[in-house]
Amino acid sequence: MDLSLMNKEQKKAIQSTEGPLLIMAGAGSGKTRVLTHRVAYLLEDRGVPARNILAITFTNKAAREMRDRVSALITEGTQDMWISTFHSMCVRILRSNINHLGYENSFSILDPTDQKSVVKDILKRRNLDPKQHNPRNIIGFISDKKNQLIRPEQSIAEAAAYPDTLYSEMYHDYQQILYRNSALDFDDLIMLTIELFDKEPKVLEYYQNRFQYIHVDEYQDTNHAQYRLITQLAEKYRNICVVGDSDQSIYKFRGADISNILNFEDDYPEAVVIKLEQNYRSSKNILDAANAVIENNTERKPKALRTERDGGPKLQNIVADSERGEAEEVVGNILDLADKYSHSEMAILYRTNAQSRAIEDTFVKSNIPYKMVGGIKFYDRKEIKDLMSYLKVILNPNDDISFERIINTPKRGIGPKTVDKLKAHGQTTGISIFESIKESDFIGIPKTAVVKLMGLVDLLEKLAQKSKFITITELVDEVLESTGYLEVLESEKTIEARSRIENLEEFKTVTREFDRDNEISDELLFTFLSDMALVSDQDGIEDDGGVTMMTMHASKGLEFKVVFVVGLEEGIFPSRRVIYDDKELEEERRLMYVALTRAEDHLFLSRANSRMIFGKTESNMQSRFLSEIPESLVEGGGAFAQGDANTGSGLKKRTPKRSRIVTNNSGVSFAIGDKVEHKKFGEGIISAIKGEGDSQELDIIFNKVGIKRLLANFAPIEKK
Ligand code: ATP
Ligand code: MG
Repeated sequence: MDLSLMNKEQKKAIQSTEGPLLIMAGAGSGKTRVLTHRVAYLLEDRGVPARNILAITFTNKAAREMRDRVSALITEGTQDMWISTFHSMCVRILRSNINHLGYENSFSILDPTDQKSVVKDILKRRNLDPKQHNPRNIIGFISDKKNQLIRPEQSIAEAAAYPDTLYSEMYHDYQQILYRNSALDFDDLIMLTIELFDKEPKVLEYYQNRFQYIHVDEYQDTNHAQYRLITQLAEKYRNICVVGDSDQSIYKFRGADISNILNFEDDYPEAVVIKLEQNYRSSKNILDAANAVIENNTERKPKALRTERDGGPKLQNIVADSERGEAEEVVGNILDLADKYSHSEMAILYRTNAQSRAIEDTFVKSNIPYKMVGGIKFYDRKEIKDLMSYLKVILNPNDDISFERIINTPKRGIGPKTVDKLKAHGQTTGISIFESIKESDFIGIPKTAVVKLMGLVDLLEKLAQKSKFITITELVDEVLESTGYLEVLESEKTIEARSRIENLEEFKTVTREFDRDNEISDELLFTFLSDMALVSDQDGIEDDGGVTMMTMHASKGLEFKVVFVVGLEEGIFPSRRVIYDDKELEEERRLMYVALTRAEDHLFLSRANSRMIFGKTESNMQSRFLSEIPESLVEGGGAFAQGDANTGSGLKKRTPKRSRIVTNNSGVSFAIGDKVEHKKFGEGIISAIKGEGDSQELDIIFNKVGIKRLLANFAPIEKK
């Protein structure tokens, strides 16, 4: 394989294939690239069969990308090679083996909404008030325990005081309910795989033999459970390569444990350690700024990171009056750079999803295409959840959580009393609602209801049969038709019902895409449902253009030519929660480091003197992280003087370009956002105005032909 484009250290990392290997290096130094090349090198130059290689990435998107890149580097196929996230790897392992733990192999995966309804059920059964016991806290408690591999019994035994004692009891209830439903939450996927390996050494050995070469990207963000899983798998061959950057550990709130990477050499004393010190991503100004910020963390090993790229443009400081103003400034700058960069090369990063709305509104008004990652609650919509519940029950009829959603949806005359009776019967006999229905004649359910219930069971069983022979899209259509779901919506004739129908249609674009990539088989529905369950933060990104909007957390590992980091205010970022806690503050600073190092060419740093957020207007001082960037790297106002929020007000305020108006030869004025009609291209909307004087151009997004750039003076357009 051609490694001529890699530097010396990178080459060494690629070629050190035997034994444990740690690559510890700063952002943009090519860690992920090295992993990809190493996998290709193992296949091509060392003749290692694809099936003996495992590569674990942080997101599904990263997994897909790595597979594509490896495929481009080698001639052989990569089908047999496992490149996946921790979660999807565990789904595959459990799919064939979880029966050893007493679960059905066709288990369901719970999403956060399902988890919440299980917890609410438990609270109800225990006569506890959800207002006093926030289900979110209980779910968080359970998740923490699972990440530390603490089982309910142990949690109960160790709990010293309230609320741990109560929460541990509820964890116990929760786990029993999930077991009875053959349902797993995300944390179970990993915990139960470990349990399976502990219980069934033969199964573990099978996977140890299979994965003789193991790779883990973003190792600094593994939690204890993930660490343990990797340790189990790597124990036999010890060919384990982990890459990471302790300065980019940002998932402590999900249990990530930085000591996993720091202790790697203790775990594997024979480990080779390689440092990569050249950054290939960012211009020098950007890198210097990022390095200056992270140096303020005291709990870190200093490390070198340099670039051979030139200084590049200075970082741009933006100070706006309000969150709207901030959004307009961002949009103005995007329009300015639109000549040089495509929208998909730009990203806006914020601390919390709540900040996205103002920017989104401005994007919509300016007709700038954008895509939002995470935060979109498409899959939480009622109609989508209902449909998914049908699919889950078709696969796993014992999934009571889903069954309860659909038992009377659409309404089929099965009342809450009947459901309660079925549930009570299930609880005493230890069977599911679905199974209880078959005994419903004998448990005091009225005859009319029994008939309806039997009808439903019959329908679901038929659908389950059919599901093995049709595509997911066809199955979705069958479900919507045969259950009457669609008919009910259609007969409603309200705007809401129409939008629900549209959402269901939209869902079918997802299923169609899935059907294109997957063949009809017994496995199809399981694969579809687990894929859907594992859609992660970054997976919302599609490559169809548009500016990316996402949280800083979701941006890890990615890179963009142009990056806007917005909301740089004390209380927003660093967030109010952490300001008085040094450890948390250091984590927040690592997040700043991650955000800054996503940028390749242009980096904008913005804040607002006052903003409306979470329903309140706030005035915040500028973020301390801004003050940590040397002034010489920044332009746009005497910038980062310490202290008062108004220090930036001496700035010359730029006029956002979006309000620019152009007048053509015939004296007609056009502004961004105007609807126009073109003689040949038809209807469109002006998305940008460029240039000066006679050479002014308009970017117009046409409904039929897409974006065109036209000379303002001569374009045969009329305002609509
Ligand atoms: P992060 O810490 O953000 O995950 P990373 O260390 O994984 O970053 P990569 O994403 O692998 O870094 O690489 C950063 C950029 O540098 C990519 O665009 C990559 O293609 C490029 N790059 C890495 N090594 C080289 C090289 N030797 N020559 C040219 N470009 C390189
Ligand atoms: Mg990377």
